[in-house]
Amino acid sequence: MEKIVSLAKRRGFVYPSSEIYGGFSGFWDFGPLGVELKNNLKSIWWEEFVQSHDEIFGLDSSIIMNPKIWEASGHTGSGFTDPLRECKNCHHRFRSDDLKTLACPDCGGQLTEEKKFNILVKTYIGPVEDKSALAYLRGETAQAIFVNFNNIIDSFHPQIPFGIAQIGKAFRNEITPGNFFFRSREFEQMELEYFIEPIEDEKMFKYWRSYCLGFLHGLGLNPDNLRFYDHPKEKLSHYSKGTTDIEYHFPFGWSELWGIARRGNYDLSKHTKYSGKKLIYKNPTTNQEIVPYVIEPSVGVDRLILAILIDAFFEEEKRVVLRLSPKLAPFKVAVFPLVSNKEELVEKARIVYQDLRKNLMVAWDDRGNIGKRYFAQDEIGTPWCVTIDYDTLKDDTVTIRDRDTTKQIREKVSSLNSYFQKKLED
Ligand code: ATP
Repeated sequence: MEKIVSLAKRRGFVYPSSEIYGGFSGFWDFGPLGVELKNNLKSIWWEEFVQSHDEIFGLDSSIIMNPKIWEASGHTGSGFTDPLRECKNCHHRFRSDDLKTLACPDCGGQLTEEKKFNILVKTYIGPVEDKSALAYLRGETAQAIFVNFNNIIDSFHPQIPFGIAQIGKAFRNEITPGNFFFRSREFEQMELEYFIEPIEDEKMFKYWRSYCLGFLHGLGLNPDNLRFYDHPKEKLSHYSKGTTDIEYHFPFGWSELWGIARRGNYDLSKHTKYSGKKLIYKNPTTNQEIVPYVIEPSVGVDRLILAILIDAFFEEEKRVVLRLSPKLAPFKVAVFPLVSNKEELVEKARIVYQDLRKNLMVAWDDRGNIGKRYFAQDEIGTPWCVTIDYDTLKDDTVTIRDRDTTKQIREKVSSLNSYFQKKLED
C-alpha cells in the first residue's frame, strides 16, 4: 500500500487535498494522470450501463436537494449513522465497529458508551443560518434518481423493466476515513436504479450481480481478487431485502467494492408518502398500477480506482509496471525522439506526436536515455511507446514498444493511427 501511495503522489495520480496547509483528512485531489484514469473509468461505465442499454436513462442531478428528501429516505434518522465512541481522556473519536479493543487505541483511555453518529454533511442555504435553512450535501446519488422517477416516465414513457443511472459526488462525514482514499468524506459514485416487477426481484438481482462482476473482469481486474459477499439478514440496511457486495482483496483485507442491493419499493413508497406525489408505474396494456421494486448496483469511482491501481501494480527485477488495461491507461501512447539534440529527429517526432494526439492522449518525453523513458512510462501504465530514430528519416517507420511484453516492432508512420485504434478495440 505504501508503494501505491508513493507512486500515486510522485507520478501525479492522487495528491492529499490542501497539502500545503497540512492536508484535510478524508479529502483527496486527483492529479493529471488520476483525472484521466477516472474519466476513462467513468466513460467505460457509462458505455456499459447507459449507452448499450435501450432501457437505461442517464441523469445528472443537483448535489444539494430539498432536505425533506433525506428525511423521507431515512438518512436524517438512524438509517445513516455510524456507531461512535469517544475517548474520555484525549477526546479522539472512533467508529466502534472498527475498534479491536475496548480502550482508546491512541492513549489507552476509557471510551464512552456507543452513540449513533449521523454522517450526512450539513450546510445552510440562503442568507439566514438557522434550522429552517439547514440542508445536506447528498449522502448518495440514488435519492436524486428516485425523486426524478415521474420525470423520466413522463418524458420517455419507458416500459418496465427500466433503469436510471447517475455518476456523481457523494459526501459522508465518515468518523474514520482512511486506507488512502478507500474511505473518504467526498467521493464519487456510479449508481444504477433498475425498476422491475416485484416478481422479477430474485432473477434481476442475480442478473445484475453477475453483470457487475463481468464489468470488473472486463476492466482487467484479477478474478482471484474479487468475490461475492452476501450480507447476513441482521446486517442489512434499513431498506434492503438482500444485499451482495463484490469485495476486492485490498492489501488491508477483503473489503466492499460494489454494493448490489434489493431495495424493494422502500424508496418510491417513502417519497410518495412524504411528497404527496404518487410514484407509480402504470402498465400500458392492463392499466394496472404498481410501485416497482428496484435493484441498485452502486460502486465508488475512487474506491474502484484504488482497486485498479493495486491490481495493476507489479514490481519486476528492473522496473515497476502498471499493467492497466489500455482502455483505462491515462496515456495510450508515448512518443520519443531517440535523442533530443538532433533537430530532424525532434521535428519528425513532434509531427508524429501532434498527429496521434488528435485522437488519443499521448505523452511526450525527450529527457534522458531511451531505457529510462520506457521505464517511466511503464510506471504510469502507458501501453505503447513510439520512438523516432535515424531509420525513420530514411523509410518513415518507427519503433513501437509494448509495455507488457517489452517487445518492439516497426510500423509505418502513416499506419500508426489505425494500428493503435485497432489495438484499443481489441
Ligand atoms: P461501507 O460499508 O464501506 O461504509 P457502504 O455499504 O456504506 O460502505 P454504500 O452506501 O453501499 O456503501 O455505497 C456504495 C458504494 O460507494 C460502496 O460500495 C463504495 O464503493 C462507495 N463508498 C461508500 N462510502 C464510501 C466512502 N466513504 N469513500 C469512498 N467510497 C465509498
